[in-house]
Amino acid sequence: MRQAPEKLILEPTTRCNFKCEMCVKQSKGCDIAEGDLDNDAFSRCESLFPSLKSVIFTGIGEPLLNENLETYISRTRDLMPQKSIRGFQTNGKLLTRNRALSLFKAGINKICISVDTIRPGLFDAVRNGGTLSDINQAFDAVKYAKKMFPQTNVKIGIEFVLMKKNMEELPLLVEWAGKRQVDFIIVTHVVAYEKHMEKEIAFLNNSHEALALYETFKQKAKIKEISLAQYYQALWKVNKSKKEIEIYKMAGKLKKEGLKQDLYINLFHILSEPSGEYGRIRTVFDQAATIAHKQGIELTLPSIRPKTKRECCFIEDGSMFVSWDGNVSPCYFLWHKYTVMRMGYIKHVTPVFFGNVHTVSPEEIWNKDEFKKFRTKVAQYDYPNCHAWCETRCDYVLDEPFHQDCYINDIPCCDCHWNLGLLNCLA
Ligand code: SF4
Ligand code: SF4
Ligand code: SF4
Repeated sequence: MRQAPEKLILEPTTRCNFKCEMCVKQSKGCDIAEGDLDNDAFSRCESLFPSLKSVIFTGIGEPLLNENLETYISRTRDLMPQKSIRGFQTNGKLLTRNRALSLFKAGINKICISVDTIRPGLFDAVRNGGTLSDINQAFDAVKYAKKMFPQTNVKIGIEFVLMKKNMEELPLLVEWAGKRQVDFIIVTHVVAYEKHMEKEIAFLNNSHEALALYETFKQKAKIKEISLAQYYQALWKVNKSKKEIEIYKMAGKLKKEGLKQDLYINLFHILSEPSGEYGRIRTVFDQAATIAHKQGIELTLPSIRPKTKRECCFIEDGSMFVSWDGNVSPCYFLWHKYTVMRMGYIKHVTPVFFGNVHTVSPEEIWNKDEFKKFRTKVAQYDYPNCHAWCETRCDYVLDEPFHQDCYINDIPCCDCHWNLGLLNCLA
């Protein structure tokens, strides 16, 4: 068990100069107070710096609005190991030449700019408050700063929030990025904080393993001249025919075999998957990967389907999240109070805090029994998988505050999309 975090995510501010349509801040269920990280909270985190691998300044806001950002970056440069990562995420609007110079001077070595489209009309619609010319200005600014600080090695990247409406554009964007000497691109699926955004979610609901097992049973059904696609008609029929009873039984065997293999077969998800959709996304991803490879860009893609074997990158990597007001959280999912859509249902997310750096040292918070116990439980992955198992959501996961899941676990990881490999971020 780690004695201290290896990655620190500091939230410089919850203020923003944009009103992006997919942002949690713009959703009705958002209850995030606005404020900036102050010197006291920041300096209380400094004791962690000598043993950190990375510090990322990001959160639900625009980091460049915090006027102390450069001061904080220069402290990380002075106190962190030489090879550590000191980065931030930005919408790019305030990244002028002067600002880029001061950031380079302060010692930043990783900058990630949000670019979800290179079509000006769509950009204006998605990133309300910004324009594509702001992004061009931001890339010009970092290029200029690189020229002025030739001895530095600052990695420049893009974060692309993948939606149905911009998905086909990904290969073009990678090509566009190559012309701007971008080093890395992080692609993530969109999180729907409002009902109307659910239609933009591009990932598919079934795991590869569940589908493969379904296919074997589909073939067995074919031999018996029945079709598993008729399962729901058969299920709800009061007087089932002989064939319908066979379909029902075959579906039962399929589910039982799934459980034996530690898979859960959600026939509703399987039968409602649009045909050809996986191939369409795969083609876009493969094209983007080929271009990225040619351009020397490191491309991180999300899973197209949820992973069967869950993995929480934040817990596995030893991350600690400190919000602008000093609260310490384990991950991106749990550091604010907001609502998120799950299959048409509004899910309330209750933040999880283990202390506040204004009053307790970050080391003490990290080593609190309750935080250690939380990390251990998350890494055991012994909690339900709401996405795979359930067609709807039960009150356990919809209610606020969260108390327990249907296995009586008190950690709220069962209905998280981060551990399914669907979301990525600079962290
Ligand atoms: S730039 Fe980021 S924080 Fe600001 S509104 Fe857009 S998504 Fe939200
Ligand atoms: S907690 Fe509720 S939604 Fe999640 S798997 Fe259990 S019953 Fe399903
Ligand atoms: S809620 Fe998700 S991201 Fe947060 S600790 Fe649990 S598995 Fe990890």
